[in-house]
Amino acid sequence: MVGGFRHVLVRYVSHTGQPLCAAIQSQLMAETRKSEDALIEWIRARSVARDASILLGIGDDMAMVRTGPEVLLTADMLMDGVDFDSARHAPDEIGRKALAVSLSDCAAMAVRPRWAVVSVALPDAWGMAEARGLHTGIERLAEEFEVRIVGGDTNSWKQPLVIDVTVLAEPWADIAPVTRSGMRPGDAIWVSGPLGGSLSGHHMSFRPRVREARALGAHYGNALHAMLDLSDGLSTDGHRMASASGCGIILEERQLHEAASDAAKEAARGDLEAIVKHVLDDGEDFELLFAVAGDAGEPPAVPNSDGARAARFVRIGVATGEPGLRVRGGDGTLRDVEAGGWQHFTERA
Ligand SMILES: [Mg+2]
Repeated sequence: MVGGFRHVLVRYVSHTGQPLCAAIQSQLMAETRKSEDALIEWIRARSVARDASILLGIGDDMAMVRTGPEVLLTADMLMDGVDFDSARHAPDEIGRKALAVSLSDCAAMAVRPRWAVVSVALPDAWGMAEARGLHTGIERLAEEFEVRIVGGDTNSWKQPLVIDVTVLAEPWADIAPVTRSGMRPGDAIWVSGPLGGSLSGHHMSFRPRVREARALGAHYGNALHAMLDLSDGLSTDGHRMASASGCGIILEERQLHEAASDAAKEAARGDLEAIVKHVLDDGEDFELLFAVAGDAGEPPAVPNSDGARAARFVRIGVATGEPGLRVRGGDGTLRDVEAGGWQHFTERA
């Protein structure tokens, strides 16, 4: 399939950006190359195949894995200053998030993540310690979710950190992957946990809802009509699910208060309207938004050893035949909701 760490760019300017004399330059090139080889070897040694699914792991030109008949793929690229801030976040936190966002996509489809390929453009200023830290963060989360890192690419350059993770997943036995396009009028709309205020910390430390999604798939079967993970905000992602499904969603304002995270309430300083805005627009919640048949009942309790991050399902609305996304206030009036969450490209234009 995909894989094989290969080498890489070599630094041959000093930290001040001045070219070095040829002799020093070639020595530095050799050392840098050695250290990047050492990094790959360090990663390889820690990723020794302990899994019968890996026929060829890190160290060759490609990795080879044994899959079932269906494989799902997802890729996410994270950039310093956009998805994390390397001045504030430690390398292991950044690495963890880079894998977590892809695992969240696996949760969104209710599938089982299996293998990951990790590509990085490391800033020149980073040494081995930071590079190892980055990988350690990825590795710990991979271990927790039984995902194997089978390859990737490592480079360095004069620009800020960029990290890209591709994950290959397979359907869980007896659970068909859940798309975002199957919502039907009359469906109950739920979320898997608190929304809003993510930038105060949750966006780096969230737990991908892989287990919860599996439990939902097993519990509801075909009554689980549509699902996605809330990465860009309920208003934006709600519109996406509605338009993909060719119907609409009415959100109950009272239930949005119920779904608000502590961080959203804190940021809103008790202003109810502001709380709703945080819930709708903040983004990076990485909770599941899902639609189930109106008579399918409540989601199952999902056991989780980490109580702080246990799912808290809240029913926030209902699917309607009329397209679009609306909020129903306490007095019963409906108002349209614009997609106000994070929009890549347009925000920076
Ligand atoms: Mg997604």
